[in-house]
Amino acid sequence: MSMQLAERMSRLGTETAFEVLARAKALEAKGKSIVNLGIGQPDFLTPEHIVEAAVKALRDGHHGYTPANGILPLREAVARDIHKRLKVEIDPGNVLIVPGGKVTMFFAIMMFGEPGAEIVYPNPGFPIYESVIKFSGATPVPLPLLEKNGFAFTADDVLSRITPRTRLLIVNSPANPTGGVSPKAEIDKLVAGLAKHPHVAIMSDEIYGQMTYDGREHVSLLSYPEIRDRLILLDGWSKTYAMTGWRMGYSVWPKSIVAQAERLAINCHSCVNASAQFAGIAALDGPQDAVHKMVAAFAERRRVIVDELNAVPGISCVEPGGAFYAFPNIKGTGLNSREAETLFLEQAGVAVLSGTAFGAHGDGYLRFSYANSVENIREAMRRIRETLARTGTKAAQ
Ligand code: PLP
Repeated sequence: MSMQLAERMSRLGTETAFEVLARAKALEAKGKSIVNLGIGQPDFLTPEHIVEAAVKALRDGHHGYTPANGILPLREAVARDIHKRLKVEIDPGNVLIVPGGKVTMFFAIMMFGEPGAEIVYPNPGFPIYESVIKFSGATPVPLPLLEKNGFAFTADDVLSRITPRTRLLIVNSPANPTGGVSPKAEIDKLVAGLAKHPHVAIMSDEIYGQMTYDGREHVSLLSYPEIRDRLILLDGWSKTYAMTGWRMGYSVWPKSIVAQAERLAINCHSCVNASAQFAGIAALDGPQDAVHKMVAAFAERRRVIVDELNAVPGISCVEPGGAFYAFPNIKGTGLNSREAETLFLEQAGVAVLSGTAFGAHGDGYLRFSYANSVENIREAMRRIRETLARTGTKAAQ
C-alpha cells in the first residue's frame, strides 16, 4: 500500500514565480547572465532602524511565544498607522498579526469557502487566491481585469458576478500582477452596490497601498463604515518596508469573526516570531523616509520600463498606477505568454512571468517586476529587443 493524499491536495495550485526563479538560478549556475524581472519583492534592504529593533528585542530576551494575535504594542501601532494614513479609527482588538500577507488570504478563504459557495476574485490576479479557493472546495468566480480599464476593477463588473451563493469577494488595489488602481468613484459605486448584498464578506488586499504613482490616490475599503462589519483588510510589512523575508503581515477583521481568525492562528502557527514583531513596531512608528525613497525609486523605474516596453514593436503597455509591476500586451509579437516567458529567459537571459501564471485572463500579457535598477531594466529591454529582432517574431517581420 502506498501513501494516499487527501483529494483536496490535487486542487492546490502554486505560484509559478518560484519556479521561474528556480529556472533562472539554474541557468545562472551554468554561467548564463540573467536579469531578474520576475520576482515580486523590493530590491532594497530593510531599513537599518527596523533591523536594530529586532536585534534589540532578541538581546532583551524576547525569545518566547507571544499572544497568538500579536503583542499589544504592535497591534496598537497598526491602529495608529491606519489612523495616520487613512484617517480611520480601528480597535487594536480587531487586528491579527500574521506571518506574511498570504496568511490572511488563506484564513479568509478557508473561513468562507466550502463546496456550494462562490468566491469572486480578480483574474489576472495573485495566483494564491484561485489556488486556495479551489482547495477550500468553493467555486472560483473570476473577475476579469481588462486592459481597456487600466486593469482596474469596475463596480458593475464586480456586482454583476454576485449571486446568492457568493460568500466572499476579493479585491486587490493596487494590483499584482497588473499595477491597476481602482479609482475612488468606482469604489464608492461598489460599496453602494454591496448594500444590496449583505451576505457577501469582502477581503481587500491592500498590500501595495503605499505604492501609487502620478498622484493616484489609494482608497482603502476601511474608509467605508457601512461595510466595516464584513470587511477583512489584508496588509503587511513585506512590500512597504522591504521585509518579505521577515514574514510579517496583519489583518483587520470584523469584530464578529476576529476570534475565529485567532483560532485559525492558534491551530496553525501559534504566533509570529517575537523579535520580528518588535521590528514591526519600529517600522510603523519610526521615520518613513526610507519608504518614500523606495517609492520614488519605483516611480522612476516605472517611467523607464513603460517607455522602453512601448518602444518595442509588437508590445504595448498601459501605465500601471501602483505596485511595482508592468503588464504589457505582447499579442503583436505573435508569441503567446508562455512562449515569450521561455524565449526571454532562455535566449535573452531575462526572467519575467507569463500572464497566465496569474489566471486565464492573463493570456497575451507578461508581468515585468521593476523592482530592479534602472541600469538592469535598460539592459533587460535591450536584450529583449535584440532577441525579438533575431528570432524574427511577427512584429519584427
Ligand atoms: N497580496 C499580494 C497581491 C501580493 O502580491 C503578495 C506577495 O507577492 C502578497 C499578498 C503576500 O505577501 P507576503 O509576502 O507578505 O505573504
